[in-house]
Amino acid sequence: MDALMDRRGGLPLPHRRFAPRLVPAPGPKPQPVAPTGTVACKGCNRRFVTERYERALRVCSLCGYHGVVPATLRATQLADRGSLHLADFSDVEDRDPLHFNDGVAYPKRIAEARAKTGLREAFMVARCLIGGNPIVIACMDFGFLGGSLGSAAGECFARACEMAVAENRSLVAVCTSGGARMQEGIAALAQMARCSQGVSGVAAAGLPYISILADPCFGGVTASFAVQSDVILAEPGARIGFAGGRVIEQATHDKLPDGFQTAEFLLAHGMVDQVVLRADLRDTVARLLGVYSR
Ligand SMILES: [Zn+2]
Repeated sequence: MDALMDRRGGLPLPHRRFAPRLVPAPGPKPQPVAPTGTVACKGCNRRFVTERYERALRVCSLCGYHGVVPATLRATQLADRGSLHLADFSDVEDRDPLHFNDGVAYPKRIAEARAKTGLREAFMVARCLIGGNPIVIACMDFGFLGGSLGSAAGECFARACEMAVAENRSLVAVCTSGGARMQEGIAALAQMARCSQGVSGVAAAGLPYISILADPCFGGVTASFAVQSDVILAEPGARIGFAGGRVIEQATHDKLPDGFQTAEFLLAHGMVDQVVLRADLRDTVARLLGVYSR
């Protein structure tokens, strides 16, 4: 009987006749965690030694899945070696016109995103050479609040356009975004017009603008500067669209075709000029810029 008594309360312990049944927690199935020094491919779960995966530009050698690349690493992958010089946008400030708070205050979310990515905003802008061509490169970082387009991100892109015009450089943008930043409301939507104005300035100066769409690219970014370029390139399998597929299905009460909103689907329907493997992106951009500079 003593064995059945709790030492602290002295109450008898419940008699356990059955083993407890484990009920899986609600929500998405947890992904396997890769051991330290390895990375799991999100396409097929195959694990790679991190260094090997980085050498392959974060592309799975088994299934071809193109993993997410942060902005600075992306610029390094595209630029000629040693030619990358980051633009100083430390004076760009975010605004909080709605005093938005969804449990965490918006300024705090910004501060967390800055600490996490080491970037000032969702855009990383730099001067560089690609195949010897002088470029202003503007890379979005999906890790910064989902690459969302707020007023400060719009300011970064607008300045990148002005820099390209002032210094007679071509413009290359790598776009990956969830869309306009909801925390800023209409001020975020206005950035679509602001960025479009920047692109028109580049076009008026007769300078080429190439956009590269990476997974995922949605909302106000896809609806503005991402598709206003002279050439639209996309990475294989990248999901590209305005509203998400589920929202469209709910609105239209129609089943969407297979592969809808993928880079390959958009290529087949004339919305993308070329789907390019990440390993070939730099050479493709360099070749295109070479053609434009003739
Ligand atoms: Zn894979």
